[in-house]
Amino acid sequence: MARVTVLSEPDLELALLRKGVGALVAGRHCCAECGRTPLVGERVYVFKRSSTVCALCRPRRRGEPERIELVRHSERGHAVRLRRRAA
Ligand SMILES: [Zn+2]
Repeated sequence: MARVTVLSEPDLELALLRKGVGALVAGRHCCAECGRTPLVGERVYVFKRSSTVCALCRPRRRGEPERIELVRHSERGHAVRLRRRAA
């Protein structure tokens, strides 16, 4: 028999966190370290698992990034968006 599922507080927090993370991914790049949105023309460093860090936080990460992207203007629809979805 199925019961009505009641979200406990930790579950709710997790759900809100996921929602927030999803919104960030759908929008523009955001630094995974400091949370700052990099400026247009600034380089961002993309590491594995889609974590992106800004130039200021780059030294905090070990190893080489998968790729380096230039932050573009988003108003004209040229923004680089993450199209991959977590499997
Ligand atoms: Zn940063």
